[in-house]
Amino acid sequence: MNVKINKIAIIGSGIMGSRIACHFANIGVKVILLDIIPTECHDNTINFRNKIVNESLKNTLKSKPSPIYLKSFCNRIQTGNLSDDLSLISDADWIIEAIIEKIEIKKDIFFQIEKYRKKGSIVSSNTSGIPINSMIEGRSEDFIEHFCGTHFFNPPRYLKLLEIIPSKKTKKNIINFLMNYGEKFLGKTTVLCKDTPAFIANRIGIAGIASLFKIAELLELTIEEIDILTGKVIGRPKSATFRTSDLVGLDTLNNVAKGVYKNCTHDENRSIFKLPEFVEQMIENKQLGDKTKQGFYKKIKDANGSRKIQFLDLKDFEYKNIKKPKFEILNQIKNKNSLKEVFPVLIKGNDKASIFYKKMFAFLFSYVSHRVPEICDEIYKIDDAMCAGFGWELGPFEIWDSVGVQNGIELIKKENMQVPEWVKNVKYFYNIRSKSKNYYDIQSNEFNIIPQLNNLILLKNLKLSSTIWENDGVSIIDIGDDVINIEFHTKMNSINKSVIEGMQKGISIAEKNFKGIVVGNQGEHFSAGADISMIFMLIVEQEWEKLNIAVQTFQNTSMMIRYSNIPIVVAPHGLTLGGGCEFVVHADAVQCAAETYIGMVELGVGLIPGGGGTKEMALRASDAYYKGDIELPRLKEYFLNIGQAKVSTSAHEGFQLGYLQDGKDNITINNNKLIEDAKQKVLYLDNLGYTQPIKRKDIKVLGREALGMFMVGADSFRQGNYITEHEKLMSQKLAYVLCGGDLSSPTLVSENYLLELEREAFLSLCGEAKTLDRIKYMLEKGKPLRN
Ligand code: NAD
Repeated sequence: MNVKINKIAIIGSGIMGSRIACHFANIGVKVILLDIIPTECHDNTINFRNKIVNESLKNTLKSKPSPIYLKSFCNRIQTGNLSDDLSLISDADWIIEAIIEKIEIKKDIFFQIEKYRKKGSIVSSNTSGIPINSMIEGRSEDFIEHFCGTHFFNPPRYLKLLEIIPSKKTKKNIINFLMNYGEKFLGKTTVLCKDTPAFIANRIGIAGIASLFKIAELLELTIEEIDILTGKVIGRPKSATFRTSDLVGLDTLNNVAKGVYKNCTHDENRSIFKLPEFVEQMIENKQLGDKTKQGFYKKIKDANGSRKIQFLDLKDFEYKNIKKPKFEILNQIKNKNSLKEVFPVLIKGNDKASIFYKKMFAFLFSYVSHRVPEICDEIYKIDDAMCAGFGWELGPFEIWDSVGVQNGIELIKKENMQVPEWVKNVKYFYNIRSKSKNYYDIQSNEFNIIPQLNNLILLKNLKLSSTIWENDGVSIIDIGDDVINIEFHTKMNSINKSVIEGMQKGISIAEKNFKGIVVGNQGEHFSAGADISMIFMLIVEQEWEKLNIAVQTFQNTSMMIRYSNIPIVVAPHGLTLGGGCEFVVHADAVQCAAETYIGMVELGVGLIPGGGGTKEMALRASDAYYKGDIELPRLKEYFLNIGQAKVSTSAHEGFQLGYLQDGKDNITINNNKLIEDAKQKVLYLDNLGYTQPIKRKDIKVLGREALGMFMVGADSFRQGNYITEHEKLMSQKLAYVLCGGDLSSPTLVSENYLLELEREAFLSLCGEAKTLDRIKYMLEKGKPLRN
């Protein structure tokens, strides 16, 4: 079967419909977005009849974080209304229903769709809880065979989970197609679910939240305390439990819980879905969360006009100031290298926090183990769904493995909960054999390979057997086919001495024995930039020579990336800032994740890019002039990108900023495939007959002609009070390097010439007290200071 999705129709333009529309536009598909006409329709103009859909899309496009990679991509979405424009779906390859959660209305929409859809087109529902089988009644054979549930999570661009739910009659090839399409084209983790209430992620996720509501009451822990204990420290999003509820909306949460309570009469923990009384009270008070501007948390302005966040005290229903409570047990996990080492510590003690964790994990382990085979046959699907849908770093069975299966069973028993028979003889849920991750399969009582991971490079797994060299900042891993991967693993993957050493080592190893290198990691971010604490120390100790050498070494490393005799592909994802961005712009090619937030942000800490980044942007401007670009505007654009520390909100924007280049760099939509795609790129470049580039001496810099303009510009910005005196100084230093210095006319210069200017400017800014203040502020507060 050769299904192609060229055009998609989305019915319902609410929170989900309009955001799903944006995500299809992101990947280049033509989208039709339809909604009802206003009920009080007294005006027959198109504008009025399309008011609901247009306003909804407009609001979605304004929402943050942005649902769309580039604003211009919304031209790929055509809007219309269900009364006049349903015929537009007649050539759609896939029709997604995302209207209100009412079965009769959904069934009526499918009846309407049936009149216009072409045979063989896929139809799916985004329902969160209505049984898929209940929606096909009365539909034709062709419709039924091509119908299933496709449950996107909110926000669809960012949350990776796509649950696919076949009905009893959906054609197998349609399901296979969607599983693959979701992964490859939409960048999702697709999880095949059974048609059970709330499917996988919401069933487990809501049960987990509901259990925490109860434990909070029982142990008299505050909302703030629970969120500290259930957030980043256990590898979950910062929004943890109650802040997540505020984001989802307490009414929505309650509706799903009610649905499960009603439909899952056999669930051994059914009572957990009857949410505590305080939930009903909050719903009555319209304390639903973000949508009513108050929930478990509320933002207020205090008497001085500064913003404050308060939490709801469940004892007296008053909002109280946040206190940032501390727990001794959290000190004990501070130095743990991996999350897996954290859980055994958390359940060991007898303090309040440990008792909390024991209760929490006992419930979670008991609940998930009872769900197999009810909601899915394989345990890894539950872990996949929780990680991709709720942003957990480790899924429930992975956490259970980390504390030991038998210890987990003891926890459950101590809380007087049930352990299903199948778990009792299991030694562990996962293992890694021959570099592949295997899961314990209940039916066969054997370990089987997780199929989706079969073709992916998982650095974590490969590390055990294929590490060639490592230090405390970098691992150099053989990823097969004569390619190595240089992985950073410092805090936020910042670039420190060890990383620089590892990069240089990796390049020298690969030049002798390998075809090429991928520079990439599978952490949250590619790199937050150079380690400024090291720069701070050298400035404080006035070690100017050491600082000079450090900057030079960074520059040399960037130049090694560019001028090695093997292809080096850098694979950024997430934050790719400062020094991380400088490595990217020196690569032979870049394979970046669609979600790459890239920028040279050094001005935020009082510096200019000093690892070759400023030089590189002067070089790129020069290349653009050779291609016929008008000189000054291009240089000014690069000047402003650095001067305003712009960071792209997507890889596509990274291309617009000039940090990524058309024709050379590419995007991978699915993060899980990034390293594999980068490796293929290395092999492709090697196959083309990669030769070591020749050092550039033909960079056209504009000298005084452009410098004058930048100087005057910075001056007038200062006069107008748009920038501070220190920012004026930084802008002028930046301009000086980008223009090649105070040359009397446009001149051709070498990269080394520009690198020296760059280093001089960088070092001179290090000598400024206000730069030191900026670095200190960033280190202490994690945000930039304007001084
Ligand atoms: P929403 O209320 O934001 O949007 C519903 C849309 O349905 C509106 O645009 C409305 O105009 C339209 N509509 C109302 N009556 C209609 C009718 N008679 N005929 C056709 N359209 C009609 O809802 P949502 O949050 O976007 O949810 C849509 C679907 O997605 C639901 O099935 C929901 O369960 C599911 N879902 C929601 C989320 C979420 O977080 N919001 C997540 C996953 C799935």
